[in-house]
Amino acid sequence: SDHKLDYPISPEEMDWSKLYPTDENEDKQVTIADIGCGYGGLLVALAEHFPERRILGMEIRVQVTEYVEERIRALRESHKDDAKFNNCAVIRANSMKFLPNFFRRGQLDKMFFCFPDPHFKQRKHKARIITNTLLSEYAYVLKEGGILYTITDVFDLHEWMKKHLDEHPMFERLSPEQEQSDVCVDIMTNATEEGKKVSRNNGSKYIACYTRLPNPEV
Ligand code: SAM
Repeated sequence: SDHKLDYPISPEEMDWSKLYPTDENEDKQVTIADIGCGYGGLLVALAEHFPERRILGMEIRVQVTEYVEERIRALRESHKDDAKFNNCAVIRANSMKFLPNFFRRGQLDKMFFCFPDPHFKQRKHKARIITNTLLSEYAYVLKEGGILYTITDVFDLHEWMKKHLDEHPMFERLSPEQEQSDVCVDIMTNATEEGKKVSRNNGSKYIACYTRLPNPEV
């Protein structure tokens, strides 16, 4: 449960140097987050595609987090020559609770929600990772013009995520052209373990991406 989870009191208290040890730029911030990263396929693919960015996976299951830690350690070890994969890391965290403890306002410019747990039963819907309240937190940590990516093989969950995002004042859906031409859509469709499983089973993948709107003028 949560009392066993480590999380900083505020973003200022977070020691990132343990996670990104050999990255030469100490002040560099995480700008891409993979929420519920599972076994880390997307994390690793994004790290290769965006060598200049810091990418963080957040995962609630202990053993899965440890697996990803080990995966990154091995990749760094085998890439000592070109120093690849120093720009990705994973932490065990409940992203539904402590995001503003880790990230400052407007810090992120991409957030991924790939194949989130569907919580099929009606009474479990409040446990879904896209809800009105949580979207306000995601809007807080995302910068203006940042993008929130969702993909799922569960049509009902896709409709749910779209409904909540459409209704939220801080988000606007990308046009079909924008979605199709975004390289991250291609990466998230093919790189995650869950996405690969869906492909093997010839399942459908439903995608919806939203931009974080500017703050209203007051
Ligand atoms: N995104 C990965 C993929 O596409 O392969 C994993 C998908 S898996 C179906 C959903 C993951 O979200 C699980 O690994 C689960 O442990 C994690 N998860 C669920 N709730 C979470 C939370 N509140 N915070 C962080 N991770 C969570």
